[in-house]
Amino acid sequence: MASRFFRIGRSATGLGLFATKSIKRADYIATYRGRRISTEESDRREARGARYLFAVNSRWAIDGSSRRNVARYLNHSCRPNAKPVLRKGRIVIVALRRIEPGEEITYDYGQEYFEYFIQSGGCRCAACRNKRARRRAKRKTARRYRRAVVSSCGSRARRTAR
Ligand SMILES: [Zn+2]
Repeated sequence: MASRFFRIGRSATGLGLFATKSIKRADYIATYRGRRISTEESDRREARGARYLFAVNSRWAIDGSSRRNVARYLNHSCRPNAKPVLRKGRIVIVALRRIEPGEEITYDYGQEYFEYFIQSGGCRCAACRNKRARRRAKRKTARRYRRAVVSSCGSRARRTAR
């Protein structure tokens, strides 16, 4: 594997691919390598727990479970910096924007993936985790505020009752 722009590293959701050099917008990053299989075969493998299936179109998919396929380490993001494109019958991952060294390289796995695998447990991409953290912080402030109001009213009520 010549000219690598990335390394495999630990991300929030397991292993991920991280840029080691800055990557320009539209630059080639990696090819999603693997055996081409029919959609029916892909569904069977998925039911048995295969995790690296890439749907090319309604008829074909790529089983990218081989370790040679470094693209399988690319994680999903709802705010991705790369995207897969079909080029001469192969799926290649290209940069959507400039990617700086140290940034995790991600792409959007698509609506179907999102519905089946993510929505149940909550998406774990950085964009969604930040959104949840912000919402949690806001809820905490709201709770604190409500409690403050209730306790001051309560003491007043007790005083008037006496
Ligand atoms: Zn997300």
